[in-house]
Amino acid sequence: MNTTALKFGGSSLADANQFRKAADIILSHEGRLFVVASAPGKRSKDDTKVTDMLYACYDLAASGQDFREALGKIELRFSSISDELGIKFDLKSEFSVIGKHLQDGPQRDYMASRGEYLNSKLLAAFLGFDFIDPASCIFFNEEGNLDAERTNTALGAILKGKKRAVVAGFYGTGADGNVRTFSRGGSDVTGAIVARAAKADVYENWTDVSGMLSADPRIVTNPEPISEISYKELRELSYMGASVMHEDAVFPVRQAGIPINIRNTNRPEDSGTWIVPHRKSTADDGRVVTGIAGKKGFSSIRVEKAMLNNEVGFAARLLDIIASAGVSFEHVPSGIDTMSVIVDSEDFRAQRSRILEDVQDSLSPDALIVDTSIALIAVVGLGMVYRKGVAAKLFSALARADVNIRMIDQGSSEINIIVGVDEADYEKALNALYDTFFKAP
Ligand code: ADP
Ligand code: ASP
Ligand code: MG
Repeated sequence: MNTTALKFGGSSLADANQFRKAADIILSHEGRLFVVASAPGKRSKDDTKVTDMLYACYDLAASGQDFREALGKIELRFSSISDELGIKFDLKSEFSVIGKHLQDGPQRDYMASRGEYLNSKLLAAFLGFDFIDPASCIFFNEEGNLDAERTNTALGAILKGKKRAVVAGFYGTGADGNVRTFSRGGSDVTGAIVARAAKADVYENWTDVSGMLSADPRIVTNPEPISEISYKELRELSYMGASVMHEDAVFPVRQAGIPINIRNTNRPEDSGTWIVPHRKSTADDGRVVTGIAGKKGFSSIRVEKAMLNNEVGFAARLLDIIASAGVSFEHVPSGIDTMSVIVDSEDFRAQRSRILEDVQDSLSPDALIVDTSIALIAVVGLGMVYRKGVAAKLFSALARADVNIRMIDQGSSEINIIVGVDEADYEKALNALYDTFFKAP
């Protein structure tokens, strides 16, 4: 029997009706053994995700304000699911534990994790499966990264003893013994960890779209679905903003060679996207670009200095200043007399004066120019390695759309080209690139 690990995202478990759909999917196949659940997501466009409600509730408690009403609203989200489905589950005592925690000394990650914890307990009770708390078997190291091997051993041993189980997504235990979460959207990572530990044949990731689309559906109307994509391409696209999948979810399954199948809980009949270790070159199917993704929120720090190319160690010193401020860089496009470093705007904002002063003092540039409104767009495709003229096509599409290119970087893997544009041009640029690579004959 093929075994499957499944992860259901927030919108797939947002209310009782979505719970029923998820349960039908899980129970329709006896190999669907291990399920990872997210916290209840949005039930409609203007709704609030439970995870966001939990963070807001934590903020109130941490600043000494009254959190009771906020906590009551969270309890209501869960009790409406549990009551409607007739699940026997003592929510009252769970919420009194959380209330006491908030009173005695709230911890942000612990609070955020309660959405996954409670939703998974509810789902396990509804399905009649065991519940597994990842606090006992998913571990982070001192640096705050997943301790992959320790986790795989501990979780593997627990799963061995279970027939079918629900594992809470999004968190584990930190090196200090406290609950620690992944970054937002991290239940995708938990799903991949469970798939690897269970030695599953497939990792099904159930969400609210019928797979990975070739562009962000919130910006491009009806982008084409991607039927098959390699791990490498997926990682490039998800890192660059294709938020359907967490960028780190690839690692645990790639190690084990387990394919990921992204599926739609609301349209289980659709086959979705297959993410596979290797994909045949697209050189002969005519599809050069697999997908386009991007995001706003970057800044560029541009340093100009005559004869910069002759100054040994200049680049290393510039990057060292930025690294010492705890800011990591995304790209470093450079010319003969200029060098730019593209960084995340939020990280940069907090360290801006320190970085700029250090650059002035130790590098004495002729000019130091900061631009805080850059959007990055990645055009990704294995087929690009075999085709000439992709860059030319990309640049002329942006020129036709009157978009000014602020930065260009062709990834050394040759499967992506990244351009930086003004944030104001982001939507226009994305649509122009989509039209060129997916609609033009
Ligand atoms: P879940 O709660 O199931 O984890 P997410 O909201 O994290 O779901 O991810 C699904 C959403 O990702 C979609 O509803 C869509 O709006 C967004 N998205 C952004 N880029 C893409 C893309 N390239 N393909 C599919 N969905 C995308
Ligand atoms: N509930 C968490 C979040 O909203 C994790 C997840 O959904 O994957 O980020
Ligand atoms: Mg998600």
